[in-house]
Amino acid sequence: MAASPLKPHWVQPSHPDIQEVIINEAEFTSKSLSRVALPPWGLFARLDFPPCTLAREPTYATVQMSRDMHLNLNSDLLYINHSCEPSLIFDMTRLVVIAGPKGLQPGDELTFFYPSTEWTMAQPFDCLCGEKTCRGRISGAADMSDDQLRGMLLNKHIYELLDERKALEAAASRQASENGAAGGTEEENGLTKKVNGKGSANGSHHGAEKFPAQEASPGAVDGSLRRGPTSRELSGEMGGDTSVY
Ligand SMILES: [Zn+2]
Repeated sequence: MAASPLKPHWVQPSHPDIQEVIINEAEFTSKSLSRVALPPWGLFARLDFPPCTLAREPTYATVQMSRDMHLNLNSDLLYINHSCEPSLIFDMTRLVVIAGPKGLQPGDELTFFYPSTEWTMAQPFDCLCGEKTCRGRISGAADMSDDQLRGMLLNKHIYELLDERKALEAAASRQASENGAAGGTEEENGLTKKVNGKGSANGSHHGAEKFPAQEASPGAVDGSLRRGPTSRELSGEMGGDTSVY
């Protein structure tokens, strides 16, 4: 998709002890393999500042950390691809990357579920993860259906934004039915569609679990980081406005 790989501005490799980066220059793709074994929820890496830096706007090189803040990874962690059965979780509240519920083995591909951090993405893409549970079209959580998000671990800001939208939809729906009773028009009902093009107006939570309340143990991982081109740039740039309104 992208015409050229990202030119890394950091010293590579940034995480040689835990991550092997494989770049296919011919196909403009990249992926990362684990060099470590971790138990479920084990600490893979910390998102320290530096090398991370704050970003107001999302780009292919950022991960969303709250409803209106993002961080530039500035390291090889940027080469962690999306998967619908991710091996890693970016916990943006604690600013750590942890192993998923299955733990991690050396050689496992390092992946995470992009909508778990991103509310919007400038370039949605068709996922090719090949998992039975593949969610298909991947975009920011704002544009994914409840079914697509069900069962996935999502960050606190994503839950909050989803809940907020549901509350607005419910309010719009109430308003619409009141208007309807009073002879309201279709246009007035349009707010629901604008607020959410896909999701149901009264769906319950996604059934996704919250992150485990585990404190990542310090020192389990080398705090230093690295660089490189990214498949995120290739497979789906993360961008766009973080706000739905
Ligand atoms: Zn998939």
